[in-house]
Amino acid sequence: MKKYALLNRFLDLLYPPRCILCHRFLQQGERELCPECRGNLPILPKEERSQTLLGISSCCSLFDYEGEVRQSVLRYKFGGRSFYGRIYGDMLAEWVDRDEYDCDIITWVPLSRKRKRSRGYDQAKLIADAFARRTGIPCRGLLKKIKNTAPQSGTDSREARRMNIADAYMPLCPEEISGRRILLMDDIVTTGATLSECAKVLTRAGAKDVRALTLARTRQKSKTINDAELSADGSINDHI
Ligand SMILES: [Zn+2]
Repeated sequence: MKKYALLNRFLDLLYPPRCILCHRFLQQGERELCPECRGNLPILPKEERSQTLLGISSCCSLFDYEGEVRQSVLRYKFGGRSFYGRIYGDMLAEWVDRDEYDCDIITWVPLSRKRKRSRGYDQAKLIADAFARRTGIPCRGLLKKIKNTAPQSGTDSREARRMNIADAYMPLCPEEISGRRILLMDDIVTTGATLSECAKVLTRAGAKDVRALTLARTRQKSKTINDAELSADGSINDHI
């Protein structure tokens, strides 16, 4: 343990800890969030958190994907801040009520093997694992991404994105899916096409109910593709 404490001290000197939301340097004794952000988290009021998506009984999100939340998620996905996943999962467990995620088992929207290899971690899995630890609900990988969805640069219609991810996932462990109420987790929901596709696969495999929980959601008014779907190389995808 001592060795790790020393290593952490060393890393703190190299990379002083910053607030995961506003990215300001933290003072000694502060962890993860600065006092301003901790005391004023931009969480959505409960009545604005849920939306209905095709094949999903209810999709709850804790934040709007904008401002500091958006910057934080971009650092998480493209800036190598894998440790944010545990903090996001803890935040969800702390702020979302049980009736918004009641389920038998938790799973997540998986990345393709190729993208996971290039990123080094599966961002939705890290959030789901932390959330499961905090809530005591079992968490299993129930889906596998079997198609490397093609970049859709220049395509912004919802239908085109739905077509792109059709048949991209297959179920794993059917005995864990059958008859269960499943909570499907992801970092961001944009059009909901990916969550709906995953829900369809789970329902076909016998799931009794599928609901969803994401850290953040984008406002769906605009058809414009935003950073939630823009990968580091500029290509566009629904779940990256
Ligand atoms: Zn802050």
